[in-house]
Parts: sequence; C-alpha cells; structure tokens
Amino acid sequence: MAKPDPVIIVGAGPVGLCLALALAQQEVAAVLIEAMSDENFLDQVPRAGSNHPTTLEFFDRIGLYEKMEPRGLIAPKFQYWDRKDNALIAEFDHALLKDDTRFPYVLQCERIKIIEEALKMVKAHPLIAVRMATEFTGFEQTADAVLAHVKNAAGETEIVRGSYLVSAEGARSIARKDLDVEFEGFTYPERTINIEVAYDFRQHGYTERNYISDPDEYSNLFHWKGPPDRWRIHFPTNIDDDENELKRPEALQNRLKKFLGLDRDFEICGCNLYTVHQRVARKFRSGRVVLAGDAAHVNSPIGGMGLNSGVHDAFNLADKLARILHGTADDAELDRYERQRRHVAVKHTQAQTIRNKRMLEERDPAVRKRNHDELRRQAEDPVLARKFLLRTALFESLREAEQIA
Ligand SMILES: Cc1cc2nc3c(=O)[nH]c(=O)nc-3n(C[C@H](O)[C@H](O)[C@H](O)COP(=O)(O)OP(=O)(O)OC[C@H]3O[C@@H](n4cnc5c(N)ncnc54)[C@H](O)[C@@H]3O)c2cc1C
Repeated sequence: MAKPDPVIIVGAGPVGLCLALALAQQEVAAVLIEAMSDENFLDQVPRAGSNHPTTLEFFDRIGLYEKMEPRGLIAPKFQYWDRKDNALIAEFDHALLKDDTRFPYVLQCERIKIIEEALKMVKAHPLIAVRMATEFTGFEQTADAVLAHVKNAAGETEIVRGSYLVSAEGARSIARKDLDVEFEGFTYPERTINIEVAYDFRQHGYTERNYISDPDEYSNLFHWKGPPDRWRIHFPTNIDDDENELKRPEALQNRLKKFLGLDRDFEICGCNLYTVHQRVARKFRSGRVVLAGDAAHVNSPIGGMGLNSGVHDAFNLADKLARILHGTADDAELDRYERQRRHVAVKHTQAQTIRNKRMLEERDPAVRKRNHDELRRQAEDPVLARKFLLRTALFESLREAEQIA
C-alpha cells in the first residue's frame, strides 16, 4: 500500500504542536505550517499557562511534560477570595485527586514556554516537516487529498498536498471562514487588562492561583516562574476606556495600589489588553478539513480552560487520524471527534467559563453570599471537593466525551 500523504497542520500553537507530536508518535507524518518565523516566534504575549492534571498526562505521553516541569511552578492549590471583605472564601487542593492522576496539581507554565519546548521537539522529529514563516491562505479538497495554498518565506505561493488538513490556526482560522462555518456565541463588551508584576502576593495570603470576586472589580491572580518571578493579575475595564490611558504606568500602579491597599510602587514587567469571546464553531469538520483548539472554540480565560481543552482536542484527533491513516478505522471517526469535542466545548468549557465570570462579578449581595457559601460547603467536604476538582481539572469532560459514540 502506498504511504498516505502527510497530515497538514496549520499553526504551531500548543494545539498544532501537540497534534504533530502525537501523530508522529503513532508513525503518522505531518507538515506543520506556521506563519511566524524563527526570529519572531517567541515575541508573543504570555497568554495561557495553567495546565491541568489531565493535560499534563497528555504532555507526558509525548515527552513534553519533563521539559515543562523545570520551567514551571507546581501549584497543588487554588483559592477563591472575596475582595470586598478581603477574606479567603475557599481553598481547593488537588491532593484529593492523588488516586485519579499521577499529577495531582496544576503546572503553571506559560504558553510561550510550552511552544518553545514543543517546537524544538517537533523540529527534531524525522516524521514532521516544519515550515516556519509560511502563511496558509486557503485550500481545495478532492476525494482523496487536501491541497493547502501557502505563501512561503520567500513570498512565493506554493501548494502543499496532504491527506487531511487540521486548522490549529487560532481564533481567526482561515479554514473555518473558508468553510463558511459559523462561530456561534458572543463577545463580552468590556476588555480585560493583564498586569505582570514582580511582587510576592503570598505575603498577603494568596496561593499560586486565585480567583477574586468583587462586584466592582473582580480579578484573577496567578504566579509564574521567573526570572524574575512574576504574578499576573487580570482586571475588567470599561468598554469606552482609552487603551493608552489604561496602560499608562501611573494608571497601572494605581490599580495595584488600590487592589492591595498599599501606598508603594511596584515593579511592573508588562501589560496587555484583550477582548474575551465565548464562541464555538457550528461544525468541527468538513470533509478532509478539521478544526481544533481556538480555531474551533474560544472562551474566557477564567478557569484556564482554553489551552487545556484545545490540547485535549489534539490528542483525541491524533488517535483517530492515526487509526484512519493506518487503515484500521473509517473516516467517520472524524464525525465522532466532532460529536465528542463539540459537546465538551459547549457543555463544559463554555458553560463553566461563563459561570466562572458571572460568579466573580456578581453584584447582588444575596446571590454573592449564596455563591460563597456554596464554595465553602464544597471545599470543606472532601467528597464534594474531589467532585469539584474532577470538573475543574477537566476529568469529567474527558470521561463524558468517552461515552459519546
Ligand atoms: C490573556 C489570555 C490568557 C489565557 N490564559 C489561559 C489559561 O490560563 N489557560 C488556558 O487553558 N487557556 C488560556 N488562554 C487561551 C489560550 O491561550 C488559547 O486557548 C490557546 O493558545 C489556543 O491554542 P491554539 O494552538 O489553538 O491557538 P494559538 O495558540 O492561537 O496558536 C495559533 C498558531 O497559528 C498560527 N497561525 C495563525 N494563522 C495562521 C496562518 N494563516 N498560517 C500559518 N499559521 C497561522 C499563529 O501564528 C499561532 O502560532 C488564554 C488566552 C488569553 C488571551
């Protein structure tokens, strides 16, 4: 039998890189197409970084975990705080999952470090051809192949032939647009500002990951390994706030001073402003073209589910593509990929992240009290706390997807 054409993967984000490595591990060749060049690949904003135990298991499967652990922080616990009362509401400890996983913790390791390590592995793999500085511009599909149109580093147009094409291009996926697949959902009117600061928030009782509820200015606070050791704090901003004003050094200092109730200056390492979307593609596959990661679904970062659920897509898809290309499964497997992963995107990732934001910004004092009491009740009971963690660490969504035929 002739060797199948490689799988074309567009995008060397965490999803595309994991997919390439998981396919290669199963003897399936891939061509990875990335618009950024080797020179600017690492000049990207920090973005995601809370890697849940389920995702760590997947990273471990392809040998990526051992490269990430030294660059990250092990965070077994996370906390919910009430900023109005400056009080800890509840703390959850992944140690309760010690019988469920080899990784009873979250690894705080930013996307930029993950892609740096994974790109090195991908480049070293004989079954993966990496095309940096190459922009995907569109595709055609026939009964037995996909032809990707790309503009290469020299600015020439080229056609790359593959058996399947996976769009791991991120939220602005050209493949999704070309397929005319609707990106259903909504965009929050306000933007979020991230401030990175070299300051140890543990002296105020915080742990490595914190969700802080406040009717006026909710926030999330996360610790990242340096040098220098940094904490990233997110705040909502008003829709008509001017970007330059929001990012002005004094304005950033004032937000931090107000948050901590301290009159001192902080060492600010960076800041960025972003818009949050809650959207899921109506379809995840059309013929030989498949959507994965942010190309298929985007959500608020509260709960750290975007990168994680995208990586779960990649491993689900790799196993199915490998079976199809080795001739042990039918191409209808890809419809199952869509059923499983779309279900997770809608019923778990979207539902959970929308709920998380609503809870943190709740204004009604009675509802806030009820929410906080409920969190406390779950954190204090080990059975309920384990159930809570199985959901937040994405075990529940993986187990539920497995049941979908
Ligand atoms: C501020 C912020 C914080 C976040 N925090 C978390 C978190 O804590 N936990 C979490 O799980 N998620 C988080 N997320 C979400 C997370 O960053 C994304 O879900 C994740 O990066 C998606 O991975 P991806 O590989 O699908 O796409 P991306 O990471 O967007 O990668 C897409 C890649 O495709 C390339 N590309 C795009 N178009 C083309 C083209 N035409 N041709 C060739 N290449 C192309 C891009 O250059 C890029 O390298 C956060 C997001 C933001 C904005």
